[in-house]
Amino acid sequence: MNKSFLILFVAILALSCSDDEQIIKTFSNADERLWPYFQRFEEVAAERGVDVDINSSGLIASIERLDQPNIAGKCQHPTPEENILIIDLPFFANTEDERLIEFVIFHELGHCYLGRDHREDAYQNGVCISIMRSGVGECIDNYNQNTRKVYLDELFDPDSF
Ligand SMILES: [Zn+2]
Repeated sequence: MNKSFLILFVAILALSCSDDEQIIKTFSNADERLWPYFQRFEEVAAERGVDVDINSSGLIASIERLDQPNIAGKCQHPTPEENILIIDLPFFANTEDERLIEFVIFHELGHCYLGRDHREDAYQNGVCISIMRSGVGECIDNYNQNTRKVYLDELFDPDSF
């Protein structure tokens, strides 16, 4: 076994170990398939000094068929006390791009948890400044591995609200 191969092997081993040790948080009022995203939302908030506790917020979250064209998720308040997040089942089941699912869930949590409205602002090149864009405005989405940090900074920045 040459040296670089050994280093790679050890690196993979280390990665898989840290995976096993990761604490999986439960969210009592949310579909289990949403838990990893909710946990990540709390983590990226904490990295930015924002304390997010979805369990204590009373949010109810489910994955069900929305049957509305181009609607992948929703945050609704049937009564002022109710805070309900719904992710469209066909969207969730058929989307292979995990970042896109994160985008939609974080957007809805932006409404349901952070209480944010839509923000349609764009950079000069037409790219959306916020993942809180409505999706029916003119700016172009550009949420990906490289831009994610900037979008998450914007999402939790109180000046964006
Ligand atoms: Zn929205």
